[in-house]
Amino acid sequence: MTTVTEKRVRCCLCEVESKFTGIGSAQSAGFPDLDTRPPEMVRSTMFAWIQRCPECGYCARDVAEPRPEAVDIVNTKEYKRQLNDQTYPKLANSFLCRALIDFACGDYSAATWALTQAAWVCDDSGASDQALVCRQQAANMLSVAKERGQQVSEPEGSSTALLVDLLRRSGRLDDARKAIAAKRDMIADGNILRVLDFQTALIDKNDMLCHTLAEVFAEEKRSEGDRMPPPEDYQRPSLTVDVVVVAPIDGQHKVLLVQRKHSPFEGCWAIPGGFVDPHEPLEDAARRELREETGTEPARLEQLHTFGAPGRDPRGWTISVAYLAVLEVRVAQSVQPHAGDDAAEVGWFDLLAPPPLAFDHADILAHARKALAIGD
Ligand SMILES: [Zn+2]
Repeated sequence: MTTVTEKRVRCCLCEVESKFTGIGSAQSAGFPDLDTRPPEMVRSTMFAWIQRCPECGYCARDVAEPRPEAVDIVNTKEYKRQLNDQTYPKLANSFLCRALIDFACGDYSAATWALTQAAWVCDDSGASDQALVCRQQAANMLSVAKERGQQVSEPEGSSTALLVDLLRRSGRLDDARKAIAAKRDMIADGNILRVLDFQTALIDKNDMLCHTLAEVFAEEKRSEGDRMPPPEDYQRPSLTVDVVVVAPIDGQHKVLLVQRKHSPFEGCWAIPGGFVDPHEPLEDAARRELREETGTEPARLEQLHTFGAPGRDPRGWTISVAYLAVLEVRVAQSVQPHAGDDAAEVGWFDLLAPPPLAFDHADILAHARKALAIGD
């Protein structure tokens, strides 16, 4: 499970203290993309990789960490425009602003990563034009870093692999091909050479899409004569469970909802639920999440439906198995739900008139009403 902490940090520029979320540990499943973009669930913790001071707009890994050049940059028109650029996701703007400060500090390697990370945020928000611009900027910044003798990534050759992917995915196929040709003979690392060969094959096919390292090594296994492709060959979704708890209270059908403590949909009401732990039985996960977030333990859970519409979760490809629990009047009266873990608040709401809900949870409630033949 992802461990989340909250801390107060004093901004070194404006000296105002604000609350930020930190991530203690996050599980990751699967291989990174060719540009090292991590798989879920690590990727959904990206919001904690950067802090944006709500008072002065200083964007840094840690706003308490002083950077003398930042004072001037934060007050420029260019910085303020980027900070509030409505055409980009807010989190992408934070990374792009951080890149402006890194650039001013002469840290072109850090600026390359901040621009690349901005592209990842745009990828996840479906802002593909903006992702392309971020990648072009990252490719240019990486070249500047190399000219100035700054190492962008280890080991030797991996920054070439990154450059090639940035160029290919921003449509500069000829430049990508040239970048491979210029360095290929100097690279000794066998894995990086395999990645570059895989890139060459993609470039030959005019393929500008996202690919993962799993594909590079799966390709190899196939050529070794493996007959059955292992499951790692297929991209896998993240799996979540959601639990609709319904109870008759004061002559009304009520549903138990939690207020989300974290992004995405921070502050929004939602059905209790969360990610299934590796190898955890589904119903156990449903009971665990319900207990952690609301302190409720219903006697019986039934599977309601599975929700997997593309784009239902802004963090990426997520499939949710929804459960339904109907509490008896007597049980409902004795239950005292209390917020915990990822929930800020918990409460009973009219099943027929719930508040606006996160993700596709309105759809899940519609299924629950139908299953219970209530309303509609
Ligand atoms: Zn500040």
